[in-house]
Amino acid sequence: MCDLIKKSGFDYGFDPKACERCAGKCCIGDSGYIWIDESEIVNLSKFLKISPDAFKDRYLDKFGLRYSIKELKFKDGYACCFFDQKALNCSIYDYRPKQCMTFPFWDYFKHNFKELERECIGVKR
Ligand code: SF4
Ligand code: SF4
Repeated sequence: MCDLIKKSGFDYGFDPKACERCAGKCCIGDSGYIWIDESEIVNLSKFLKISPDAFKDRYLDKFGLRYSIKELKFKDGYACCFFDQKALNCSIYDYRPKQCMTFPFWDYFKHNFKELERECIGVKR
């Protein structure tokens, strides 16, 4: 038995316990964007005890007006630079951006459940 988290508007649920045996699949793999906004940058840079500008230089790439967290080579693909490659989890978990907090409940997956199912072992219909 598992306690599935349900969210209005989504026809699937998510078992957060699955993350314990997953090894962080949503933080690794193909390269992608990990969007982070200004208020998240301020909070995370405080946590890391550096200035927001230093944080941007070190950890972010800018695309137009938006920032995305840098990635590093990992196995055959990439990993978010905040992915702990030894512990296989997020090293800034409490300060991760909204995009990560709301996964796997993204509007995109409402119509692409099969794709989500291949990535995330925690989702169930
Ligand atoms: S892919 Fe799913 S099960 Fe795996 S760490 Fe991410 S949210 Fe958890
Ligand atoms: S910030 Fe954390 S949860 Fe988000 S992609 Fe990076 S390692 Fe994963």
